[in-house]
Amino acid sequence: SSSSESEEEYLFKVVVIGDSAVGKSNLLSRYARGEFNPQSKATIGVEFQTQSVEVDNGREVKAQIWDTAGQERFRAVTSAYYRGAFGALVVYDISRRLTFDGVKRWIDELNMHSDTTIARILVGNKSDLEHIREVSVEEGKSLAEAEEMFFMETSALDSTNVKEAFEMVIREIYNNVS
Ligand code: GDP
Ligand code: MG
Repeated sequence: SSSSESEEEYLFKVVVIGDSAVGKSNLLSRYARGEFNPQSKATIGVEFQTQSVEVDNGREVKAQIWDTAGQERFRAVTSAYYRGAFGALVVYDISRRLTFDGVKRWIDELNMHSDTTIARILVGNKSDLEHIREVSVEEGKSLAEAEEMFFMETSALDSTNVKEAFEMVIREIYNNVS
């Protein structure tokens, strides 16, 4: 490219995957707009949000974060959704074990669709639902370790770790490519 290295612009695609109703859309709306929606409904309209993140050396990178628009309900997340992704958040709901059991399938699907190194984080969402927790922190951690992913528990409701989870992936992508 003709521009100097310091002016190089980065735009990374990040996908959010996981079973229906684990809170994917709310994680994204919490992160990108500071909004939470208590109603469960299929995402309509917005395909992705673009966020700027400052990485360690003060440089700004942009992440284009994709939401499934409810396709996962029909197990029909298309390969177009994964195409070109450099990072992924694989989300389950700590209050519903079935969604944790479903994680393996999402990781397999992600691996099947990716031909580059993908920065991946396992996200146990709804950490505010401690009183009805079905998946322990240790179980989440050890699955993430086995799959060589980062791990974090989040709450889109009370904002715990939401920014941290997205930015951990975005920083890791930057580290992978720079
Ligand atoms: P998606 O299908 O994975 O996109 O899930 P949604 O974002 O639509 O959320 C499904 C339901 O879970 C909605 O009723 C949300 O309000 C609720 N929800 C999402 N995140 C949280 C959270 O962190 N804590 C709690 N208590 N509820 C959440
Ligand atoms: Mg959704």
